Amino acid sequence: MAENKKCAHPSCQCQARADSKYCSPYCEAAGTTTEIQCNCGHPECSATTTV
Ligand SMILES: [Zn+2]
Ligand SMILES: [Zn+2]
Repeated sequence: MAENKKCAHPSCQCQARADSKYCSPYCEAAGTTTEIQCNCGHPECSATTTV
């Protein structure tokens, strides 16, 4: 069963990778720093409208 866990970056809407708390190196670098918007580049975060 796939484990759905959100990226640990507070501003990120993506699912984290299986081997990481984060979805991308960007979020890994940002860590738990709260940002206005995530810039990881994934569609979930690029979209201005939240689904
Ligand atoms: Zn993101
Ligand atoms: Zn992320």
